[in-house]
Amino acid sequence: CNIRLFAESETIFTEGSAADKAYIIESGYVEIFVGSGHDSIQLNVLGPGDIFGEMGIIDASPRSASAKALSPCRCIVVSAAQIAERIESSSPMVRLFISMSLHRNRAYNTYIKALSNPHIGLPSPAITEKAYARSQQHQQILDDIKLESDLQNAVRNDELSLVYQPLLNLTTGAIVGFEALLRWQCPQRGSVTPQRFITLAEETSLILPMGDWILDHSCADLCRFQRHLEGRDQSRADFFISINISVRQFQQPDFFERLIACTQRHGVDAQQIKLEVTERIFLNEAEAINSIGKCRAAGFEVSLDDFGTGYSSLNYLERCEIDCLKIDQSFIQKLCSSDRAKILVGSIIDIARQLGLPTVAEGIETPAQMAALKSMGCDIGQGFLFSRPLPLNEALALLDQ
Ligand code: C2E
Ligand code: CA
Ligand code: CA
Ligand code: CA
Repeated sequence: CNIRLFAESETIFTEGSAADKAYIIESGYVEIFVGSGHDSIQLNVLGPGDIFGEMGIIDASPRSASAKALSPCRCIVVSAAQIAERIESSSPMVRLFISMSLHRNRAYNTYIKALSNPHIGLPSPAITEKAYARSQQHQQILDDIKLESDLQNAVRNDELSLVYQPLLNLTTGAIVGFEALLRWQCPQRGSVTPQRFITLAEETSLILPMGDWILDHSCADLCRFQRHLEGRDQSRADFFISINISVRQFQQPDFFERLIACTQRHGVDAQQIKLEVTERIFLNEAEAINSIGKCRAAGFEVSLDDFGTGYSSLNYLERCEIDCLKIDQSFIQKLCSSDRAKILVGSIIDIARQLGLPTVAEGIETPAQMAALKSMGCDIGQGFLFSRPLPLNEALALLDQ
């Protein structure tokens, strides 16, 4: 049974012993103390609802204090495994914070004990060993925390910018649209790759203001593209901008309202905007289908980005209408060296065709890859072979060639 009863004055565990369980107090009072006999010092008195004994379990170290029942107690026993599982599944950053506070807590216990006992010298806080500081992940996590605060400034200080990479009709070679890609030029770090900072932003809510910024600026730039095309008498209703929408951004309850407000503010047509979302949004399937439906009904096209790399169930393709499949560049890069990649790409294009969906191939770097994709019936291509992502003015100039 996972209930333990303790009699008044009964010892629950002693300092220095191995920690194998924690307790939740249902009724009664428990004293936490260090030292023994006359030298013991009370650290805390805990009552119903309190948890104790969890510290040693979290980082597998001996009890740093003793516990005894002050009155008859009824406690729920929490196993080490129950706690360890939760800790392991939490983010490395949270684990680091926990180990730091544990370390401080332990150092404090040792200090209190030394204070009360003339035979023990006071420990020097500077030389107590910090187990967490030895962990390999420690530096990486500190880097992430610093990067995150720099990134907060980046949004405020306008250090972000968008570059545009053309998408071409593989049959005619004409540019049909551009994908907006985010760049961050950090004053201290130089340029930081989107993989690094967008992943981090997605782990925090920072992706939300960033997402708003991206929507706002890509709609403003869409106006520039339109004016440029009109100036050349080439106004094209089918010209589009693809905007990457992160999972968290797409899952905001008011994402659709924000999107509409943004397009209205800039006076741009929904028809000229493609939203690139990844399969991961389907982890929350009902919600994703509902949001995609709303966007499509308002005229936005929805492309499935990085197709084939994410949540690999095709169920959603049956239940949810989308407008386009974008085959991940990892397949394209192996297209000419791996028969298996070729078979997979060919099959994706066939599935899409039968579903009536156009396909986009990204990451095309060689004429051979382009030829293979063309022969398989892929509709649209994007990649360094045609152009790198470019600042707006250079992207506009590309339309003049
Ligand atoms: P993605 O959406 O799959 O974007 C395509 C990435 O492939 C871009 O990298 C692009 O520069 C790169 N690329 C294009 N052609 C080639 C090629 O021929 N060869 C190679 N090796 N790479 C090519 P980028 O700009 O570094 O962006 C990386 C990822 O960061 C994007 O992958 C996307 O997931 C994310 N990202 C970029 N901008 C945004 C944004 O505005 N919002 C959100 N939510 N995510 C973004
Ligand atoms: Ca994309
Ligand atoms: Ca992609
Ligand atoms: Ca990608």
